[in-house]
Amino acid sequence: MLRLRAVDLIIKKKQGLALSCEEIHFLIQGYLSGAIPDYQMSSLLMAICFQGLNETEQLALTLEMLKSGEEVDLSSIKGICVDKHSTGGVGDKTTLIVAPIVASCGLKMAKMSGRGLGHTGGTIDKLEAIPGFKVDVSPENFLKQVSEIGLAVVGQTANIAPADKKLYALRDVTGTIEAVGLIASSVMSKKLASGASHILLDVKVGNGAFMKTVEEARTLAQAMVKIGNRAHRHTVALLTNMDQPLGFAVGNALEVIEAMETLRGRGPQDLTKLCYELAAELLLMTNMVVTKEEGLKQVEHAITSQAALDSFRQMIKYQQGDTKVLEDYSLLAKSKYIFEVKARKDGYISQVKALAIGQAAMLLGAGRAKKDDVIAMGVGVKAFGKVGDYVHQGDVLATIHANEEKIDEVFTMVLEAFVISPHQVLAKSIILEIVS
Ligand code: URA
Repeated sequence: MLRLRAVDLIIKKKQGLALSCEEIHFLIQGYLSGAIPDYQMSSLLMAICFQGLNETEQLALTLEMLKSGEEVDLSSIKGICVDKHSTGGVGDKTTLIVAPIVASCGLKMAKMSGRGLGHTGGTIDKLEAIPGFKVDVSPENFLKQVSEIGLAVVGQTANIAPADKKLYALRDVTGTIEAVGLIASSVMSKKLASGASHILLDVKVGNGAFMKTVEEARTLAQAMVKIGNRAHRHTVALLTNMDQPLGFAVGNALEVIEAMETLRGRGPQDLTKLCYELAAELLLMTNMVVTKEEGLKQVEHAITSQAALDSFRQMIKYQQGDTKVLEDYSLLAKSKYIFEVKARKDGYISQVKALAIGQAAMLLGAGRAKKDDVIAMGVGVKAFGKVGDYVHQGDVLATIHANEEKIDEVFTMVLEAFVISPHQVLAKSIILEIVS
């Protein structure tokens, strides 16, 4: 048999030919071991960006990256283990709400989450806004917690899909992030490694998301659903709107408060609707209910009975956070100053640019530009105005929660994120499509 050489495989992909499983194994193992250098892998990644990966290649790449690290074994947990994943957006605190809802309905949510980078926040950072909350949990304690209370949300361990970690870092600096096959394999390698039998993907679409159009998002969602199902995990994706921030709050402690309010049935309408839909979809996928309507009823009951809030309390307690925050939000970090951003004219809000609001929150210190930046937990933006709302000049569109007094740049960004038009504009539905 001919010895495989990276250069031949780069040329093969450049010509638009499919790589075999054996060739993908050779490339990933070679890259991890250092036998294949960055410059060859970069060249291959660029060829993939232009030529794509077919379904078989995507699955092979996913499994290869999955096998490069450890897989979480959830078999000791009695019950159905589910996972949800968002492709990242602005103000996305859904995990803090959906995990307790479904746990209180009898599912097990054993979730590993990431930190935020750039304008999108990370669930782990948000949870760390709760005083004392620990996200580094040993594998034994993680399993014990999920078995006992039905949910745990912890930081991803270093040994989950290390090949993806190395490849992702290279893609980040070589302009090769945006290839559907690469994104789908990257996300799914980590989801499969997390061990859940049922995976719900929330693929964000719009101004504040990776995928700017429904067509792109649909293609990515279909690719991920196929990988999941071919790897024998029941996988469904929702395409959801990320043109405007989700809910009002963007920033860690502000988002935790909004999540707790939503668990009390007092959350913003768009956030509440999305969380209910995600939770009901998980109940439907796992046959806990027969119809979506029945699922939505169970979710409603989990909220009104306070069972979901209680699940969240149990998780905070188990992970050593201060449960008093649930009754006293003032125990969470606060910003030094709050500034109001007011409408400069009457009219209908036609856009609330999620990307700009996310970037403004990051500039205030709510997110990281670099991996080792320290986050300010109390800062952020509350964008109250929503697309379709009618506002009068002087109405408060947003509040900026800052630790500094001079915030001219951020103020302008937030003000300009709101576009006000004389014509009535209808907001898009929060759920755009279901891919299953
Ligand atoms: N998120 C991931 O985990 N991987 C990608 O490639 C893109 C987004």
